[in-house]
Amino acid sequence: MKDLRMNFNKLNADSKRILDIIIKSGATTKNEILKITKMKLTTLNRFLEPLEEFDLIEQIGVGESSGGRKPTLYGIKEDSFYIFGIDISRTYTQIILVNMKMNIICKERFIMDESTSPEITIQKLTEVISKTLNDFDIPHNKILGLGIGTVGPIDREKGIIKNPVNFESIGWLNVPIKSMFEENFDFPVFIDNGSNTAVLAEYILGVGKGMNNIAYFNCGIGIRTGTITSGVIIRSINDGEDAFGHMVIDVDGDLCSCGNYGCIECYSSIKAVTRKFTAEVKKGRITKIHKALHEINYKDITKAAEEKDSLSKEIIIGAASIMGAGLVNYINLLNPNIIILSGPLIKSSSLFYDTCVKVANSKNFLRGNSQVFFNKEGSFGEDAISIGAAVMVINDFLST
Ligand SMILES: [Zn+2]
Repeated sequence: MKDLRMNFNKLNADSKRILDIIIKSGATTKNEILKITKMKLTTLNRFLEPLEEFDLIEQIGVGESSGGRKPTLYGIKEDSFYIFGIDISRTYTQIILVNMKMNIICKERFIMDESTSPEITIQKLTEVISKTLNDFDIPHNKILGLGIGTVGPIDREKGIIKNPVNFESIGWLNVPIKSMFEENFDFPVFIDNGSNTAVLAEYILGVGKGMNNIAYFNCGIGIRTGTITSGVIIRSINDGEDAFGHMVIDVDGDLCSCGNYGCIECYSSIKAVTRKFTAEVKKGRITKIHKALHEINYKDITKAAEEKDSLSKEIIIGAASIMGAGLVNYINLLNPNIIILSGPLIKSSSLFYDTCVKVANSKNFLRGNSQVFFNKEGSFGEDAISIGAAVMVINDFLST
């Protein structure tokens, strides 16, 4: 069977650049492409030709006229390829199938618990992929690739999840996830940190579009961070995503899982919130939550805080204030245009989000000079990691 993916590899750098512009704009005219690329019209026509020949773009209508004939609008052909995007987080795994416009065709999610070892997780995902291809009658060669946004640390090149902490199942140690998928399917597999894929999705297609410095924070079991500075993802040696969470905010503070003292995660993660709440109740503090102490989870606390339970409110404000202080340090260092706060704690608590923003806005030394915008959950909310994983696949094809 003809490998349609080969068509991508046949494109030269200029055709790929034009395709990139068309994908990011949604719909654009030749004049708009000429303005960006500074090409001559004849050159542009030459590089557009293979994109039409390979059925990657199509004429989707006419744009506004600036005098003469209305110009043709070009857009990506949405069904030219499809991409799978996977989000492996500590509490759930999500898989989506998207078309080339990054519209979600289908989405499946399952809980991660003691039973979801790497083998079981990949088996479940493999079943979903096979069923989806069958249900939507999509041949393998129309899958451009599979992107995975996962908890780090990872070896991105080799496609290995190294030793992530706080997975409920045992076995998540040096998992060669890329090769495990490539054994089952013949399309290429890419991996990155979930927070990096999330920030990529928001940068290319979401609230960060048009901005060169954006940051994404996912506040959950841990605090995961993805940063784009001057249009480039900031990477560390181990492709870790938890450096911000282990920023020391109090040198004499609580003992952290990393062995250090006073890290942000000791105060502002889901675990910290439930641990501090439990400790206060054990000391005799009163709460309106009527549940056995061991059954109380972060959602009970965030809900009670919104309902004016004073202990819950105090715990949430305390956790968010420390997060806000960490954001102050981050803003002072990297001066982002926009900070996206997302993840379970943000989703379930407006008080947590509002307090983070209030503290971060009132204490950073840029205040008054350049404004930092805050955004709750970005354009893609809980889908950001998986959509970004799919965007990573296209980016790879366009950059090689
Ligand atoms: Zn730490």
